[in-house]
Amino acid sequence: MNVRATSSQAVASRASTQAETVEFLVVGAGVAGSCIADGLRRLGHEVVLVDRASGRPNRFRGEYLQPSAVQRLVRMGFGEALLDASFPLRRLHFRDLRSPRRGVGGETWIEYPDSTEARAIQHVDLIEGLRAIAEDTLGSDMMMGTRVEAASQGFDPDVPEVVLRSADGSTRRLRPRWILGCDGRGSLVRRWMGGAECPPTGRVAWLGKRELLAGALLEGASGLPEHVEVVRTRRNGTLWTFPLGSGLQRVYWNLPAAGGPRRAEITAGLHAVLDEARPHLGCEGGRMRDVTAAPSNPAWLGPAARGRLVLAGDALAVTSPLGGQGISCASAHVERLLQSVSDRRGAPEPFDTQSLRGYEAEARARYREVRTLNFHIYHLFYSRGPVKGLTRLVVDSWRRNPERLVRLGDLFGGTRAQPLRLREVPALMGLPTPHSRRALTERLQA
Ligand SMILES: Cc1cc2nc3c(=O)[nH]c(=O)nc-3n(C[C@H](O)[C@H](O)[C@H](O)COP(=O)(O)OP(=O)(O)OC[C@H]3O[C@@H](n4cnc5c(N)ncnc54)[C@H](O)[C@@H]3O)c2cc1C
Repeated sequence: MNVRATSSQAVASRASTQAETVEFLVVGAGVAGSCIADGLRRLGHEVVLVDRASGRPNRFRGEYLQPSAVQRLVRMGFGEALLDASFPLRRLHFRDLRSPRRGVGGETWIEYPDSTEARAIQHVDLIEGLRAIAEDTLGSDMMMGTRVEAASQGFDPDVPEVVLRSADGSTRRLRPRWILGCDGRGSLVRRWMGGAECPPTGRVAWLGKRELLAGALLEGASGLPEHVEVVRTRRNGTLWTFPLGSGLQRVYWNLPAAGGPRRAEITAGLHAVLDEARPHLGCEGGRMRDVTAAPSNPAWLGPAARGRLVLAGDALAVTSPLGGQGISCASAHVERLLQSVSDRRGAPEPFDTQSLRGYEAEARARYREVRTLNFHIYHLFYSRGPVKGLTRLVVDSWRRNPERLVRLGDLFGGTRAQPLRLREVPALMGLPTPHSRRALTERLQA
C-alpha cells in the first residue's frame, strides 16, 4: 500500500462532508500517541494523529525516565529525541537526617543493575523531540491544535465516526477503523467507551497518604550532585532532587494535601527543605522557578479496550508521578500494541476480538511489571515512612534479587485486585515465614 499517496488523497478530500476512512486515528500526541502513530506509519499503516494542543507542552511531568522506559524508547527509534537532550542517572543516594545510623536507615547508595541507567529530561524537550520525529514520519497527517468530536450523539464504539475541528475552523470527517485513545488521564476516548472516569487525583495507593508532590526547577545552583539525592530532613519533610542537565536541577517535595496550600506556602516549603538539605548536598545558591504541585499517590487502571477503541498511556493507567513510572507504562503499552498490529500483518484487520482481550491482559501485566526502584524505596522509607525500619532488608533483598522489588509495587495498590497485606512482605522479600516481630528486629540489628 502506498500510504503517502493514500494520505494525500485523504487530505485532498478534507472539504468533503463524506467521512474518509482511515485505519487508525490516534488521539493525543503525548508520549504514547506520538510513539504509536510514528510506529504504525512505519509499519505501513494509514494513521492520523491529532492533538488539541498547539503550543509547547510546558508542564512539569515525565522527567525521570526509568531504565525500562529509556530502553523502550530507544528500541522504538526515539533514541535521537531522548539521548542527546537527557542526562544519565546511574546512582541514587538516600539519606535520613533523622537516623543516627549510617548504612541502615541512615544512608544508602543504590545503582541500577546491569549497567542500566535512568535518564532525566525536561518534559518539553522530550515531547517536542518525539513530536518532531512523528511529524517527519506522518507529515500532514499529524494535526496539532485539532479537536476531535463524536460525529453524532449516538457514538457507536463498534463503528466510530468523528469530526476533527482545526484551529482555523476547518473540519474533517473521519471513519477510522481503530481509534487509539492516547489522550491522557481525562481521556475523551475512554468516555466514548463508557469506561469509568479516572478520579481527579487517581485512587490513593494503599499505604499511601493524601499528599501533594510539589516541584520546582532550581537554576544556577553550584556544586549540585550528578546523581539522584533523596534527603529526609529533620524538620521539613523529604527532598528529592536530580539533575536535568544545562545547570538545571529538578527538586521535589511531598506535603500533606489537606488544606489546599497556596503557591506561596509551597514555595516557602520547598525553600525550607532545600535549605535544610543544602549542607548535605554541598550545593549553594540558585533560583527556584516554575513551582507547581500535583497529587502524589494515585494508582488507577481503567478499561483497556471496547469495540474499535483502544487505550494506551495515562488514558489507560495513571500512576504516581514519583519515580518515573508513567512513561515506563506508556511506552510498554505502545510497544505491545505495535507488536500486536505487526503480528497480524497481512490480515484484513490488525486486531480481532481475541487480540483485544489479549491486549487488555497484556496492559494489566505491563502495569504490574514496571520497574520503579526509587518509587518503592522512597515510599517505604522516606515519604513520611509508612513502614519503618525495613530499609536494610529491602535493599539487601533487592541486591540479591532485583525482581523482588518490582513485586513490592503490590504494596502500593493498583496492581492487584486485593492489596498485599503487610504480613506478606517478609515472604515477598525472601525471608523465612512466619516471621515474628522479634526475628525481624534481630535481623535488622544484625
Ligand atoms: C506532576 C507529574 C509528574 C510526573 N513525573 C513523571 C516522571 O518523572 N516520569 C514518568 O515516567 N512519568 C511522570 N509522570 C507521568 C507521565 O507524565 C505520564 O504517565 C505520561 O505523560 C503519559 O503520557 P500519555 O501520552 O499517555 O499522556 P499525556 O502526556 O497526558 O498526553 C496526552 C495528550 O493528549 C492530548 N489530549 C487530551 N485530550 C485530548 C482530546 N480530547 N483531543 C485531542 N488531544 C487530546 C493532550 O493535549 C496531550 O498532548 C508525571 C505526571 C505528573 C502529573
